[in-house]
Amino acid sequence: MQLTRNTAGPEETYRIGKMLGQKARPGQVYALTGDLGVGKTIFTKGFAEGLGVTEPVTSPTFTILQSYTDGRVPLYHFDVYRIEETEEMDEIGYEDCFYGDGVALVEWAEQIEELLPEDTVRIVIRKDPAEGADFREIRITAPDGVLPELYKKAQ
Ligand code: ADP
Ligand code: MG
Repeated sequence: MQLTRNTAGPEETYRIGKMLGQKARPGQVYALTGDLGVGKTIFTKGFAEGLGVTEPVTSPTFTILQSYTDGRVPLYHFDVYRIEETEEMDEIGYEDCFYGDGVALVEWAEQIEELLPEDTVRIVIRKDPAEGADFREIRITAPDGVLPELYKKAQ
């Protein structure tokens, strides 16, 4: 299923992230795609709050992976912008994060497309200059049954 929401500012994007974080379940992978400065990290901060994370979420651009374990479920926050070879993901131990008891969220997920599980939840954020500097379109695509609550909302 697919759901599209437009936001008019960072707090709205944060709220959508939070809503998804509240519904997230162990073993899920969320792939975030969108240009630099589009709001992937803002979305992630909301998502983390939705999961019950209280530690401050920072962008893991230089570390690739940041783990948060104080929420309802562990959150593995990846920023794979700097990944050049998928072997680097093996070294980080991504499999335990994608197929374990936590939720993984990946910024710049298109960089590691071949590693994403089939039932990954896709989130694409894009700007539209014609709609103003703070406008964002957020498109969420999930396989049937993965986010049943969203499916109901989209009806
Ligand atoms: P990314 O992680 O995609 O590089 P960030 O989340 O770090 O982007 O930054 C997004 C920037 O865009 C922030 O400065 C934020 O205030 C701004 N912004 C403006 N409008 C929006 C919106 N509707 N949604 C999200 N961020 C927005
Ligand atoms: Mg970011």
